[in-house]
Amino acid sequence: MTLPEMQKTRDKLLFTPGPLTTAMKVKEAALIDLGSRDSTFISLVQQIRQKLLDLAHVEPPEYEAVIIQGSGTFGIESAISSALPEGGTLLNIINGAYGRRISQIAHIHSIPVIELIYEENQLPDIQEIETALKVNSEITHVAIIHGETTTGLLNPISVLGEITALYNKALIVDAMSTFGAYDIDMKKLNISYLISSSNKCIEGIPGFSYVLAKRSELEKCKGQSRSLSLDLFDQWTGLNSNGQFRFTPPVQALLAFHTALNLLDKEGGVDARAIRYRENNKLLVNEMKKAGFEIYLPDEIRSYIITSFIYPTHPNFSFEMFYSKLNEKGFVIYPGKLSKVDCFRIGNIGQLFPDDIQMLVDAIADVLRELKIDLRVK
Ligand SMILES: *Cc1c(COP(=O)(O)O)cnc(C)c1O
Repeated sequence: MTLPEMQKTRDKLLFTPGPLTTAMKVKEAALIDLGSRDSTFISLVQQIRQKLLDLAHVEPPEYEAVIIQGSGTFGIESAISSALPEGGTLLNIINGAYGRRISQIAHIHSIPVIELIYEENQLPDIQEIETALKVNSEITHVAIIHGETTTGLLNPISVLGEITALYNKALIVDAMSTFGAYDIDMKKLNISYLISSSNKCIEGIPGFSYVLAKRSELEKCKGQSRSLSLDLFDQWTGLNSNGQFRFTPPVQALLAFHTALNLLDKEGGVDARAIRYRENNKLLVNEMKKAGFEIYLPDEIRSYIITSFIYPTHPNFSFEMFYSKLNEKGFVIYPGKLSKVDCFRIGNIGQLFPDDIQMLVDAIADVLRELKIDLRVK
């Protein structure tokens, strides 16, 4: 299909963890050529940085927002490879693929890591974390994923904030899939670095990530980065000195993001968005259960962002077939990423509403009928 042909049909709905289905206004905002030194652009970047801090309930100069070109992982790599000093050690708490990715980043930059590894359907053991901090005085930073997109699990960052404050360690939170959907007060939670990206719950288009950081921590990053393009300190001082990026910024993604932030306000902020996502998720889970699907995680540790469903054991079920039939009908779901259990995932973030969820579960019922699968008879 050519682009004009595609534009005649409705976009497929993305039930994924991002890139997401976005509002037409967000997409339209990107249809402008604008120089990176244009004063309109520079002031727009400044507004975005301020708004991100507002959303985290913090203010400059105590906290600062740094935008990093690239996807979410670039922001995480920027924070990890800039924040850890020579001789510092990272305590990484892992219960999914994104936690493992943080260790991978540390390894590549030869940063010492102590790992606490848990099952993908298990919360970290707080006692064990506290012991690790007590025993290993070389630990300077602690990393945790807020919403583990691998499964949809929600980690208890408030407890982590309390412990890291007690032991005076800097807390790095990957809030990629939750920022904008869960209310996060950085100061109250004692978060030193919070990372998210343009194409998750703020509902922008892909192109950049952002690191919100405590200024006193950010200042320590000077000269510490193991990378030129991902140097968090230089990126920050660059943005603060003349409002410009050191290297070509994703202008159109920033234009779209600015509009996405306005739409978030219009919706009623994070609280209103959380209500919509929660409604989406509740409808999805209830309808899928009714259809006979099994949810991987227990409700108590499940987020309302993305849900993992265990592959049915029915002989006619193949994920590839299930996926492609849904895709043909205009619904894009997401494969699993678990190491031990075969699952597929359905996200309910982005410009999706309960009506869209209903359309998806109706389409799933149609696909099951076509495949002659009835999961309700056991
Ligand atoms: C999406 C996501 C990332 C970043 O992934 P990219 O593909 O680099 O954008 C990191 N952590 C979590 C928890 C995520 O959901």
